[in-house]
Amino acid sequence: MTEVNVERLTREFTTLVQISSPSYKERELGNYLIKRLNGLGLLVEEDNTGEKIGGNCGNIFARLPGDEKYPTLFLCAHMDTVQPGEGIKPVLKDGVFRSDGSTVLGGDDKAGIAAMIELLEILKEERVPHGPLEILFTVGEEQGLRGSKNFDCSRLKAKCGYVLDSSGKPGTIIIAAPTQNIINFSIKGKAAHAGIEPERGINAIQAAGHALVRLRLGRIDAETTANIGVIRGGKATNIVPDLVYLEGEVRSLDRKKMEALTSEIIETFTKAVEAAGAKSEVKVTFEYPEFRLDPEMSVIRYASQAAEKAGLQVRYETSGGGSDANVFNAAGIPTANLGIGMQQVHTKEEFLEVKDLTDDVRWLIELIQLTAGREGEGS
Ligand SMILES: [Zn+2]
Repeated sequence: MTEVNVERLTREFTTLVQISSPSYKERELGNYLIKRLNGLGLLVEEDNTGEKIGGNCGNIFARLPGDEKYPTLFLCAHMDTVQPGEGIKPVLKDGVFRSDGSTVLGGDDKAGIAAMIELLEILKEERVPHGPLEILFTVGEEQGLRGSKNFDCSRLKAKCGYVLDSSGKPGTIIIAAPTQNIINFSIKGKAAHAGIEPERGINAIQAAGHALVRLRLGRIDAETTANIGVIRGGKATNIVPDLVYLEGEVRSLDRKKMEALTSEIIETFTKAVEAAGAKSEVKVTFEYPEFRLDPEMSVIRYASQAAEKAGLQVRYETSGGGSDANVFNAAGIPTANLGIGMQQVHTKEEFLEVKDLTDDVRWLIELIQLTAGREGEGS
């Protein structure tokens, strides 16, 4: 029988989170993983994404040869973590991993990496029949999916894949995630001495304020959100400010809604800024496309059947966030994002139950065995 070695798994997770890997500085973790995957019998390559995105490490892509008569399975997790995420000291107490309170835990996404490594350990020692496996560890995910966006997806032989990078208990399957636009505004006014001749100036901060209050932000509907998250500008109290930058985003599961709301925000904002006598320049960056997977597709059926076999409760969910799965789906490889039990991610309160980490591996083992039993089944 296939048993998870819980002690080995918790040791691996502890090791992984202690290797600092903030976005663009994944080198040390990359070196560790290359060695680890080599030791597990995989053929490992690193691509040149690091150079392209200004980081010190590329995506790490590895293949585990398997029985070619079974479908190739593709698994992905990201190497980078958000800040504060350096010098993480994991604390394991009562079956729960937390940080010491000064950093995030980094279970996002090292829980995914640890689960994949334990799976590979089990495949190595137990000789479970399996098809070829493709393993991808991406960089720069937290910076707008920069690693996966620069990965050459044509290298994948798999017809479907799984990203291990969602909150939610094991058994949770993300079947839809939003598309996103980033919007940058530069509001230009006119500088003047604030005490001597303010009437000669045009206050860019005030113009931005007039415009901001007119925007629809927050939750727009069940599948659409908008936010202005950054404001920067002004130099001193005695200068009428001539420049303000704003950065915001629009997301929706529906591309048309995202585009319509983006236009609405730009139009409303620009009009109001101009009414205040200032000017506004806008830049829109399309970040990634949405995806929606039908529960009847084999990528979802495999995951749900495997979860049931592992005794996990299957939940189909839509996400409000993007992940590497958005990129692979856009490249034509149906890819689901799986809930792996990480909780309160991107905060110092982040935690992870050992039971969930163990269930992640049990889920993956069932997935492998299931696909190996589905000889010749199409997608
Ligand atoms: Zn993540």
